Amino acid sequence: MKLIRVFLLRGLFAVVFACLGGFAAEVGKEAPGKIRVLVITGGHEFEQAQFFKVFSDNPGIVFKAVEHPNAHALLKAEAARQYDVLVTYDMHQEITDEAKGDFLAWLKAGKGLVVLHHAIASYQQWPEYSKIIGAHYYLEKATVDGVDKARSTYKHGMHFKIKVLDPNHPVTRGITDFEILDETYNLFDVAKDVHPLLTTDEPESARLIGWAKTYGPARVVYLQSGHDHFAYENPSYQQILRQAIRWTANGD
Ligand SMILES: [Zn+2]
Repeated sequence: MKLIRVFLLRGLFAVVFACLGGFAAEVGKEAPGKIRVLVITGGHEFEQAQFFKVFSDNPGIVFKAVEHPNAHALLKAEAARQYDVLVTYDMHQEITDEAKGDFLAWLKAGKGLVVLHHAIASYQQWPEYSKIIGAHYYLEKATVDGVDKARSTYKHGMHFKIKVLDPNHPVTRGITDFEILDETYNLFDVAKDVHPLLTTDEPESARLIGWAKTYGPARVVYLQSGHDHFAYENPSYQQILRQAIRWTANGD
């Protein structure tokens, strides 16, 4: 959960993107029956090729990837019509009132939202974001309604077991308890109205690490897992992410 300034690296990433060209399957081309996904990144480094492979290997979707500061333009109604589900893997803070309105309009249209890993810490100054995703990660200690909140914590390279709390939910159906090598987070707030899906006994982690919820007509999923290729390449993680995209898209 290092806050990385990527401005200097953005040019390099653009070159890498251009060289790897193929991994953003073209949304809008012939893709009958496929879920159209917009993946937003920016504000936190990650293993790009390995991360996007999870999406290009998903036969049920076509996707487009966009990095801040270019992401919010694609939430505007005209552009947003091309997508069914928004997957956020960003850790971006700046958001204009206009972009907030577009984000909320996306949800009011009943489109899906899948929030991955460090995206729990986006938009720290936008209280509604915490209500949308059902959690607040404290990048700095704070006092909320008279209650002191410590900084949330993270720990890299943890090998731990993830337990499925609801094997009947479409997001976790078919998943049995599994092990993963991943970063853990702890000491963040989770809303009481989320539907618990995944938990762990790992002491360095929060107990609840995956949930489903609704925000108006929109279905929302948060998955704490997903720091790097050890998570991206975990078959259970891949299946949960595929099912999260499908459930948020159409309730299946
Ligand atoms: Zn991470």
